[in-house]
Amino acid sequence: TTRVIEALALNHRPRRLPIALDRTSYDVVIGAGLLERAGALLAPVVPQKRAVVVTDSTVAGLYLERLQESLNDSGFLVHSVVVPPGEKSKSLEEFNRVTDAILEQGVERRTTIIALGGGIVGDLAGFVAATVLRGLPFVQIPTTLLSQVDSSVGGKTGINTRWGKNLIGAFHQPVMVLADISTLATLPVREIRAGYAEIVKAGLLGDEALFAWCEMHGAAVLSQEPEALAEAVEQACAFKAAVVTKDEFEQSSEGGRALLNLGHTFGHALEAEMGYDGRLLHGEGVSIGLRLAFLLSVRLGYCPQADLDRVTAHLEACGMPARISDIGETFSADVLLRHMTRDKKMRDGKLTFVLVRGIGQAFTCRNVPEEAVRAVLMEDGC
Ligand code: NAD
Ligand code: MG
Repeated sequence: TTRVIEALALNHRPRRLPIALDRTSYDVVIGAGLLERAGALLAPVVPQKRAVVVTDSTVAGLYLERLQESLNDSGFLVHSVVVPPGEKSKSLEEFNRVTDAILEQGVERRTTIIALGGGIVGDLAGFVAATVLRGLPFVQIPTTLLSQVDSSVGGKTGINTRWGKNLIGAFHQPVMVLADISTLATLPVREIRAGYAEIVKAGLLGDEALFAWCEMHGAAVLSQEPEALAEAVEQACAFKAAVVTKDEFEQSSEGGRALLNLGHTFGHALEAEMGYDGRLLHGEGVSIGLRLAFLLSVRLGYCPQADLDRVTAHLEACGMPARISDIGETFSADVLLRHMTRDKKMRDGKLTFVLVRGIGQAFTCRNVPEEAVRAVLMEDGC
C-alpha cells in the first residue's frame, strides 16, 4: 500500500516551471488540488501573511471558500472583492470599485493581491496590483484553460476603454502562478476548447513538436485527462515563458512577443464584428484565425499546402471552429478588413501580418497585399 500511495503522490506532485526575468523570477506551479494547498505554497513567497482575493461571482461560488480556508489555515488574514463575470468588468468603473474596496481595508505595501479566476479577473486584479500604492505583490490563480496557458504568464495586465481592448495597463509580474487543473472540471467544454486554441497556436508558431503532441493527445486534453491536461498546460506555459523571457516588454517588432499574435489579426476582426457578447469566444476567433493565417501563407507562396491541411484536420478533429462559415453568421470581407486596418498603419495597401513558412515557423511579414487578405476572407465564407 505504501508503494501505491507513494506512486500516487509522485503522479500528483505539482510541476514547477521557473520563470527567470531580468529583475524578478517566479514559479508557475501546475497540478491538481493546488487550491487546498495555496496557503502553504504562497507563504514562503509573499512578504506578509495578508491578502486580498479578487474574483468574479461565478468563480467565487465555486472556489473562493476553498482558497480562503487554505490561506487561513496557513495564518493568512484574507479579504475578498467580487466582480461580475464578463469582459465588462475590465473597465475603469470596476477598477475604481475594486481599488476603493481594497484601500478601505487599509492595505499595506506588503499585502498581496490574489487573482482567482479567468483572464478577465487576472487582467483587472493585476492592474490593480500594479497601481495601488505604486505596486503590490501579485499572485495569479488562473481557473480557465486560457488563463492557465496564456494570460497568467507574461506580466501583461490591463483594462478596456471605449476606444478598444487592453488600452490601459501595465507590466506587472506575479510572485507566483498556481495553475490548479482540478478547477477546470467545472469549466464549460466550449471554454476548454477556446483555451486549447492558444495551446495549438503556440505549437503552430514556434514548436512543431508541441503541435505534433497536440495531434496525438488533443482529444485527451479536451476530455480533461489529468496527465494530458497537466502536460499541455506545462508545455504551453514553458513555450510562452521562453518567448516572454526574451522580450519581456514587447520591444521586438519582428520576432519575440509579436509572434504570439499568430491568427489574432483575423480573430480580433471577427470578435470586434461580433461585439464581444459571448457568441464568439476569443479562442474560437483565434482558431479560425490560425487556419486563415496558414491559408494566407499558402496563397502567398510561403507555406506548403500539406501544413495547412494538417492544421485544418486537427481543428476539425477537435470540434473547433475552423472557417468563418462555421460561425453561422454572414460577414463582409470589407468590414473585416476595416477592423484589421483600423489599428494598423497601412502603407500603399500593404498590411503587416504574422505568417508561417510551415508548422512551427512563424515570421512577421510587412508587405501583405490587402487584395490577398480579401481573397482568403472570401474563400473562407465571407
Ligand atoms: P473569463 O475570465 O471571462 O472566464 C470565462 C468564463 O468562465 C467566465 O464567465 C468565468 O466566470 C468562468 N469561469 C472561470 N473559471 C471557471 C471555472 N473554473 N469553472 C467554471 N467557470 C469558470 O475569460 P478567459 O477566457 O479566461 O480570459 C479572457 C480575458 O483574458 C480577455 O479579457 C483577454 O483580453 C485576456 N487575456 C489576457 C492576456 C494577457 O497576457 N494578459 C492574454 C490572453 C487573454
Ligand atoms: Mg489570445
